[in-house]
Amino acid sequence: MADKDRERKPPQSALSIEPGGKVGPHRRRSDLRRRELSLDEYEAGVRAGDRAVLGRALTLVESNREEHQQLAQQLLTRLLPHAGASMRVGISGVPGAGKSTFIETLGMRLVDRGHRLAVLAVDPSSGVSGGSILGDKTRMTRLASDERAFVRPSPSGGSLGGVARKTRESMVVVEAAGYDVVLVETVGVGQSETAVHGMTDVFLALLLAGAGDELQGIKRGLLELVDVVAINKADGDAVVHAERAAAQLRSALHLFRGGEEVPVLSCSALRGTGVDEVWNAVEEFHRRRRESGVLDERRRTQAVRWMWSLIDDLVELRLQQNESIRALAREMEAAVREGRLPVVEAARRVFEGLVGPSST
Ligand code: GDP
Repeated sequence: MADKDRERKPPQSALSIEPGGKVGPHRRRSDLRRRELSLDEYEAGVRAGDRAVLGRALTLVESNREEHQQLAQQLLTRLLPHAGASMRVGISGVPGAGKSTFIETLGMRLVDRGHRLAVLAVDPSSGVSGGSILGDKTRMTRLASDERAFVRPSPSGGSLGGVARKTRESMVVVEAAGYDVVLVETVGVGQSETAVHGMTDVFLALLLAGAGDELQGIKRGLLELVDVVAINKADGDAVVHAERAAAQLRSALHLFRGGEEVPVLSCSALRGTGVDEVWNAVEEFHRRRRESGVLDERRRTQAVRWMWSLIDDLVELRLQQNESIRALAREMEAAVREGRLPVVEAARRVFEGLVGPSST
């Protein structure tokens, strides 16, 4: 795996917070950076909300190195009982839809109301582009420098499944650190929306209206997933287009979802108008789901699906790590490519090479 040894540095905003909320002395920061932390230190630091330790714990979770992964899994096992209390909201939108502007505007309001906000991301292209979501430190500058919020770029490298798994584990870490709202941002590429939907309680889509009132960047798959829609950039001359597009989408969704009411609102992330209404709709949706027990059930189902996707990952990993199986897999690939073996038979041979022959 090309990115096996890749490890990202903790974010520059990761300052340690002393009791009383002050930024800790530089000596302590550099001590923390230099030295390996023990499992106990990771756990205590995360639980105390120490930002430097939190940043390092996330780096640990995101690392592909075997020894980091082992420690990360032990840490996650300890943190899990303290996780789960946050409201998890997925936000999707094409690049330029206004996600970072929206999150900055909304996020500052949330922290002013006493929330602690973590912003995570799932961007499968980040390994290629060097980080298109949240990678740029100039995005969300106010939020990123506010100690009531924690903004983390998308983990980089690997498949969507790998990136999503790391974000999901990061969610456990930030929740155990006491963040009570977790926003998970994604660009609408490939299956990344499905991945984010699979780890959040409410799924919000940010869309744009074109000049002819048509909606840009809306896909059929998104219509199935979305819980709340916000049509952004409803300001200046665009207000009328946004409102018409909202009305059209509202009735289209009503039909598409068999009579279910999906809130469709318009807002301007830049000016801040309509953002509270969008958030109210998200909270209202969350409240109803929690009270009806649907939320608990959704999370349980998500956890079971997550387990199965990890099993897939483990099988894949075992395959990559075992030289003789890899050789067999290469041989089977060639046989399939040349039409010498049926695909099903080739797959069975690789699988049985991995786990042994079937007993039946
Ligand atoms: P992202 O790629 O989805 O994160 O989009 P950004 O938040 O970076 O926004 C892309 C561009 O649209 C920036 O130039 C923003 O200033 C602009 N923008 C974002 N929200 C609004 C809005 O509500 N109204 C207007 N007019 N521009 C906006």
